[in-house]
Amino acid sequence: MEGIGADLEVMKRVPLAAGHIDAIRAIGRERSYGAGDIIARIGDPMDRFLYVVEGEIEVLEPHSEKRMGDVTLGPGQFVGELSFLSGGNYFLAMRAVSRTVTIEVAREAMLDLMARVPELSDHIITVFAARRQQLIERRSSSIEVIGSDLDPDIQKVAAFLSRNHIPFQSFDLDGSDEEAMRLCKLVDHKPAVIFDHDHKIEPATPREVARELKMNLDIGDDLRTDILIVGAGPAGVAAAVHAGAEGLSALVVEDTAIGGQAGASSRIENYMGFPTGISGADLVFRGQIQALRFGTCFATPRRVERLSLERGGLFCASLDGGGRVLARSILVATGVQYRRLPLERPEQFENAGVFYAATETEARFCRNTDAVVVGGGNSAGQAAMYLSRVAHLVHILVRGDKLSDTMSSYLVQRLEAQPKIEIHFGTEVTALHGGDHLEQITVRSGDAVRILSTRALFVMIGASPNTGWLSELVELDSCGFVKTGTAVGAHRPLETSRQGIFAVGDVRAGSVKRVASAAGEGSVVVSEIYEFLGEPMTSVGPTSSHVVGSDAVRRNSSGGNSMSTEENVQTVKDFFAAMGSGDKQGLLALSAEDIEWIIPGEDWPLAGTHRGHSGLADVLRKASATMELSSPEPPDFVAQGDRVLVVGFARGRIKATNRTFEDHWVFAITVRNSKVTNIREYIDTQALARASQMDASGLA
Ligand SMILES: Cc1cc2nc3c(=O)[nH]c(=O)nc-3n(C[C@H](O)[C@H](O)[C@H](O)COP(=O)(O)OP(=O)(O)OC[C@H]3O[C@@H](n4cnc5c(N)ncnc54)[C@H](O)[C@@H]3O)c2cc1C
Repeated sequence: MEGIGADLEVMKRVPLAAGHIDAIRAIGRERSYGAGDIIARIGDPMDRFLYVVEGEIEVLEPHSEKRMGDVTLGPGQFVGELSFLSGGNYFLAMRAVSRTVTIEVAREAMLDLMARVPELSDHIITVFAARRQQLIERRSSSIEVIGSDLDPDIQKVAAFLSRNHIPFQSFDLDGSDEEAMRLCKLVDHKPAVIFDHDHKIEPATPREVARELKMNLDIGDDLRTDILIVGAGPAGVAAAVHAGAEGLSALVVEDTAIGGQAGASSRIENYMGFPTGISGADLVFRGQIQALRFGTCFATPRRVERLSLERGGLFCASLDGGGRVLARSILVATGVQYRRLPLERPEQFENAGVFYAATETEARFCRNTDAVVVGGGNSAGQAAMYLSRVAHLVHILVRGDKLSDTMSSYLVQRLEAQPKIEIHFGTEVTALHGGDHLEQITVRSGDAVRILSTRALFVMIGASPNTGWLSELVELDSCGFVKTGTAVGAHRPLETSRQGIFAVGDVRAGSVKRVASAAGEGSVVVSEIYEFLGEPMTSVGPTSSHVVGSDAVRRNSSGGNSMSTEENVQTVKDFFAAMGSGDKQGLLALSAEDIEWIIPGEDWPLAGTHRGHSGLADVLRKASATMELSSPEPPDFVAQGDRVLVVGFARGRIKATNRTFEDHWVFAITVRNSKVTNIREYIDTQALARASQMDASGLA
């Protein structure tokens, strides 16, 4: 069966072409590390591309300072994996083994280069995907999930990580290996999620874990985009690929995990192009990589709760936990949601023995127990086949008296031929029993009632459409599916009763409920949206709308900013002038209340994230107390939609050490409504840190 990437073990190592290295060198700068220097720590942002010119870099074990297996990178190789595309963080630390020279390119510039040189992009993405695949297979990660089988909340985190292809390690609370014992002690023998050796993520929710991994949750207010795609099942992700490829700015908001229902299918055999089958999660994840490459952004787990109409024909989507997205068009790709059993408290054992998907994550709970699958459709049949590999016995409970009306005949034949599967017709579940976890169920067949012992019940009895968030803006059919095309007098086949809102996939009335049709509709709808939009939002500056990466929405759009790019540049120039002249009042007037200033590095006194007006004042106070700075020439200002890149050079002296330094820096500054909201600095923190180091006596 296909996975998400090639097998790194057998993959032929092909060096980057000389022309590609020259292109990287032209936009990067050389940097050298001494033996033992840390190049990246766990949790550091993957904000630069590192190409190794000479020397050797080793990947470190998550729990120790030791080298991980035999993993090192040498001349001709490059650092990184798929998180680079989405602007995520390092899962593992990197260290120079010997003196190492790299060429380093800021992520934005590298993504821009990759967008311009597809062969280079193919090469890098193939290697990144293979590395992610290997990290998942080897469970090499700094995320440690402890006791998920005992706690439904921790189980949700494990499912989220697994379905989003994020490598993690899982431990039993009574595990006997050294790391399990250390962790159990650390978490006081209670289920928990640990990041980077000893940082307990609290609350242990998918949302918090995603925040640690920087999965693009920081949607502020009034982010603007051409298309907001709601739902990342096959339909939404196919649309994400095509929207990016057409140069539209697109944001995908997904409530649970990339993959949708397809992500719950362990093996899809009827999707063209994968003769040996592919898991639904892998298929859609591949699509996500493709979409990221074209510049589409993803935010997960985030849920659209409400949709409203704004002035100027924009749609406004309000997200759970705050944040609004203003979009010129909406694509409804929210699919359907599994039906629960008609019992008094159907949610009682959810994730504690009752499941709605049958993937590897859930299959673990079938070991040493009988599994029960409720339902007579294809999804129930596939689940039963899959679970029969691990469970003692799989019972399929079907309300009707045959399967042929509801299930494909090839599946019926397979179920009948599998000795570890028993099919019970005319049977339904009437009660669930257990303490913290499901232990037994009561089933009724006619007048006969009996108890089945099981710790794993899979409910696959159909689904209802996810349309509550549409706030009655579009017409639905009697079952709640979204009507489109001629059924509502729309000009375009996939447009709803409201111009600018389109619907695709399972949520659409009359659609064929299959992966291929959902992906097909997601692909073709983009040309309808393109036609509706007329002109996509323009982007300004060197990076086109094809730039890959998490900031593309902001770059391609005006980011909720009604000011022109020239006015944004002026705001930033004024901000710099106020900083230069020490005009504190002027500076505050030009800064948003919640301004955020991120300065990278560890040993540099100004490093960290400085928030709000007080953070701004603090960092400037600290700067003037600790150093003297001068800029021999004025910086360059490059406008990119709502962002302004400021590129400059400074010379300085650290007062405490009297050492001088030189720094080539880039400030990426976001401006909204004439106020600076975010500053991200790219500086040579190593050079600055060396300058600020005291000697052994503590004197300069
Ligand atoms: C177990 C199982 C096995 C299957 N096997 C096959 C198969 O082998 N072959 C086949 O062709 N089909 C199969 N199907 C059907 C197929 O998976 C679906 O037809 C397909 O996934 C539909 O895609 P979609 O993108 O329209 O919706 P979905 O896949 O349902 O995706 C919708 C997404 O929207 C998200 N969402 C919902 N509401 C919101 C909101 N308010 N805000 C943000 N996000 C939201 C959901 O979390 C979800 O991820 C299977 C289905 C299941 C359940």
